[in-house]
Amino acid sequence: MSSVRMEKVTRRYDKEVTALDRVSLEIGSGEWVAVMGPSGSGKTTLLNLLGGLDAPQEGRVVVGDLDLTRLSRPDLIRYRRERVGLVFQQFHLIPYLNALENVMLAQYLHSLADEGEAARALEEVGLGRRLRHLPSALSGGEKQRVCIARALINRPSLILADEPTGSLDEENERAVLGLFQAMHDRGQTIVMVTHDLTVGRRADRQIQLEHGRVAGEFLTQAQDEEAIDEVLEYLWLRVEGDVAAHETCALGARLATPHLLDRMRARGILVPGAEPAFSEKGRRRAESLIRRHRLAETLFSETFQMHEALVEEEACYFEHILSPAMTDSICSFLRHPPACPHGKEIPRGSCCAGKPATGETGTR
Ligand code: ADP
Ligand code: MG
Repeated sequence: MSSVRMEKVTRRYDKEVTALDRVSLEIGSGEWVAVMGPSGSGKTTLLNLLGGLDAPQEGRVVVGDLDLTRLSRPDLIRYRRERVGLVFQQFHLIPYLNALENVMLAQYLHSLADEGEAARALEEVGLGRRLRHLPSALSGGEKQRVCIARALINRPSLILADEPTGSLDEENERAVLGLFQAMHDRGQTIVMVTHDLTVGRRADRQIQLEHGRVAGEFLTQAQDEEAIDEVLEYLWLRVEGDVAAHETCALGARLATPHLLDRMRARGILVPGAEPAFSEKGRRRAESLIRRHRLAETLFSETFQMHEALVEEEACYFEHILSPAMTDSICSFLRHPPACPHGKEIPRGSCCAGKPATGETGTR
């Protein structure tokens, strides 16, 4: 398990250049974070510190249970070998060793050289037929994948990658990002430097550096919208006077931080004021979410007769993916039900205009 914590970390190269200036950040174990920012903003310096390749003048760098700034040199070397996988834009492959030998060299450093395992790692990155090729006979994308195989060989808990897709064409970029996705799915923590927004958006979170400082932490847009949806639903239920009934979607209560509420005010989803209150735009968005959620519940429990816990779980999912047309079809199919199985009102949609709610549903 590798969580990462930097506390007021300063790295100066000389009096003139402060590459990192009192940087504090936290990365959860298993998180995939993209470090973004213009050239010279300190991204590579930050990775080098996390990898134990460099030390700050001030502050602490803690990875898992290890304070890197206090480790002895041999312990730091052990940390690098056992816990960290490094993937760079420049490939750092040994030119006179073939792909297999380059990966085995990394194994040797981890003291477990095993040709079969090295070959499997190369197969995993799609290079099973390039084992005996020298770096000079490999394309940029293939070299990058050898580097990834090398970084993966001992399943390090922390992957540090500096512009891993920087010099790749689109197809290789997709292949390499797929490999990172697989590492992420396995629970490895990934800190990836990139200035490419499409690459950065694949991460759970983006940390923006500017002039050696953290300029902000932005969620990827889809996550941001989903968090806003959760908060809107929570606020809707609160207005209805019943929050406890929807434990599963109570995520919104935790997400409703002052910071997110402020952003929702700035975007005109909430009106200004101390207490969170919907703007007309926000109310419509919340109403449409609630409508999708409750229609999905009605469909699943009355038509498909699913178990209640599953109904709730599926409804929380479907509310994010139902298109307006699908929502109206479901509503029509269910004959515009006035209430969900829990007896909560289902907001009317455009399809309901002029149609009396019959209360009857599709079960017959
Ligand atoms: P990025 O990776 O975001 O482009 P870097 O971390 O490489 O930024 O560099 C941050 C700042 O530190 C830059 O101004 C750079 O010139 C300076 N810098 C980086 N490495 C050194 C070094 N070894 N000696 C002196 N200055 C350096
Ligand atoms: Mg750099």
